[in-house]
Amino acid sequence: MRFCSISSGSSGNCQFIETGQHRILIDIGLSARQIERLLGEKDIDPASITAVFVTHEHSDHIKGVGVWMRRYRVPVMATAGTWKGMERSIGQVPGELRVELRAGKGYRMSDLRIETVPSCHDANDPCGYVVESGGRKAAVFTDTGIVTQTMLHHLCETDIAVLESNHDIDMLMNGPYPLALKKRIRSNVGHLSNIDCAQTICEARRLGGSGIFLLGHLSEENNRPQLALETSTTLMQQEGHPCDQIYVTQRESAGAIFEL
Ligand SMILES: [Zn+2]
Ligand SMILES: [Zn+2]
Repeated sequence: MRFCSISSGSSGNCQFIETGQHRILIDIGLSARQIERLLGEKDIDPASITAVFVTHEHSDHIKGVGVWMRRYRVPVMATAGTWKGMERSIGQVPGELRVELRAGKGYRMSDLRIETVPSCHDANDPCGYVVESGGRKAAVFTDTGIVTQTMLHHLCETDIAVLESNHDIDMLMNGPYPLALKKRIRSNVGHLSNIDCAQTICEARRLGGSGIFLLGHLSEENNRPQLALETSTTLMQQEGHPCDQIYVTQRESAGAIFEL
């Protein structure tokens, strides 16, 4: 399996996973043209993508989905609620490429198995994804206000995971956002903070998980890459866990293609 975080953050999200027989994208939250360019920088031919999975209908996850479907005619999978939520913004798409998934279910596509994991977020029917192939396992869990037991269970088994480290709580609460928005972000259907992320990684390590973590979906307004990284590594050091498998998606090192 190969994994690459093509883009992560409030400006647009897209994760790439390659198995022997598939090349999938999870979310197309930038324009199709931008994603084509970013894939090209990694020597990935956009036309070689075989399927697209969507986590939820917020614009930073679906911006290029409609154009991508019309241009490359690949199936796009999402829950019924996500389809309903994104229908208006993605334009007319070929009906035969529109695939409905159920949150909490597993699906097999030749050499890969993908599972939808319900997330806690203010969208219609949001989910994260776990992909397994050839004995390797990857997960993408962002845009969730809490880490569920199912997510934690998977994070103990993954070889690589994108885990949300959205905001520093002090920066958020002292920052310019209106109070209602601050409350929404901090709520159970908002986003995981740096300390939420740090505690989750430590819990996964305590339970035997040893995979790579990419800290993702950082807020541009309420976070800094170094702060997100330090929050996780400081807590890990306090608990005696090695910190060499932790990366921030905004940095060059995390934009690499990970060979698993
Ligand atoms: Zn998002
Ligand atoms: Zn969202």
